[in-house]
Amino acid sequence: MSNCAIVGINWGDEGKGRMVDLITKDYDVVVRYQGGGNAGHTVINDHGEFALHLLPSGIFRENVISVIGNGVALDPENLIKEIEYVREKGVDISPKNLKISDRASLLLPWHKDLDCLEEARLSDKKFGSTRQGIAPLYSDKYQKKTILAGELKYKEHFKEHLKELIEWKNLTLTKVYGAQGYTLDSLLNWADNYCEKLLPYICDTSKFFSEAQKQGKKILFEAQLGALRDIDFGIHPYTTSSNAIAAYAPIGSGCTDMKVDKVLGVMKAYSTCVGEGPFVTEWFGEEADKLRTNGFEFGAKTGRPRRVGSFDVVASRYGVKVQGATELALTKMDILSYMDEIKVCTKYEVNGETTEDFPFPLLLDSAKPIEVTLKGWKCDISKVRKFEDLPKEAQDYVLFLEDQVGCKIKYVSVGAERDSIIVR
Ligand code: GDP
Repeated sequence: MSNCAIVGINWGDEGKGRMVDLITKDYDVVVRYQGGGNAGHTVINDHGEFALHLLPSGIFRENVISVIGNGVALDPENLIKEIEYVREKGVDISPKNLKISDRASLLLPWHKDLDCLEEARLSDKKFGSTRQGIAPLYSDKYQKKTILAGELKYKEHFKEHLKELIEWKNLTLTKVYGAQGYTLDSLLNWADNYCEKLLPYICDTSKFFSEAQKQGKKILFEAQLGALRDIDFGIHPYTTSSNAIAAYAPIGSGCTDMKVDKVLGVMKAYSTCVGEGPFVTEWFGEEADKLRTNGFEFGAKTGRPRRVGSFDVVASRYGVKVQGATELALTKMDILSYMDEIKVCTKYEVNGETTEDFPFPLLLDSAKPIEVTLKGWKCDISKVRKFEDLPKEAQDYVLFLEDQVGCKIKYVSVGAERDSIIVR
């Protein structure tokens, strides 16, 4: 049996959704194990173009079962809307091919309110949150003040639990932020609209995975965001609120005795970053605008322009290590085709010293990139399907990055479509 995790090596938006969509054909189950509606995976296939936020990217393959694990911040409203949107494009979604863990925490409307209120309070020191309520939800989880999806099945209990939480949460909303509180009726109404529809999908996914393992099914773990946004190993405090690393996959999926045999790290041929925080290789001005426009670097969820820069070996090598990547996919190579020469950052200068190690987050603000320049290939590579058919400069670019980050680049992606890929 060979289970695989597909994870981000950088800040997220590396093209994980595209890689999951490509390789799900070899798997029986695809599971989302962390994060929530705060980031989007873009998938382009025969059904059209989709920005998925909560649904696993395996949802498009017949015979693949998609699972939303206990580690996910389960936003019923967004999930129901997403299911309807994907269904409208002719994709079958039923409890047969979608399962939701009964242990996933429910993201309630106040989590989004609190996200917005806190960003407004921070004003120009704002964190750059997508305001989807993810941080408030995970904080509540660790305070043991969330409702689990499975509780929805016990109506009277759910009502009582909700009542208790409303009393507690209204204190924060009204007394700390001076905002409006919630009534039980308004939230029960919200639950009727969205949570009821999820009931058929909610089940004991740990049991499901035990059974799947016994039957020798192959599991694909789909991560959101990237190593540099991981709550423990990312660039604190500019991280997400969950573990985006492969090591968390069995925990967030609900089957802790499940092995991750292979870790496919996805990294982009240049760097991008959404939101605040240090970004050592960042470009500005015309050069940045050109790369951003060529690479369509605008957030899948928010439409925000992404920050762009040259490939960062120091950060990526760290990402490869933190993820325990066993192989890599290099995406968006085609985007670099317009460049005469391509800069790559191989070292940082931190407080007058040169380093190849990714520094403690605090030191990143003062880190300066030390770059080398490689020759561009200046031609369209989007139709190339064999590595040896790539221009020499493009091959050299891939081999250089592979050598620098210390992990095999197995896939080179030269377009967003399913088959625009070179497998080495
Ligand atoms: P994810 O969150 O890691 O799944 O990444 P996103 O979906 O946010 O961003 C990846 C974007 O790049 C999507 O719009 C993809 O369709 C697109 N994409 C992925 N790989 C390639 C590639 O090799 N070339 C081009 N041109 N676009 C790509």
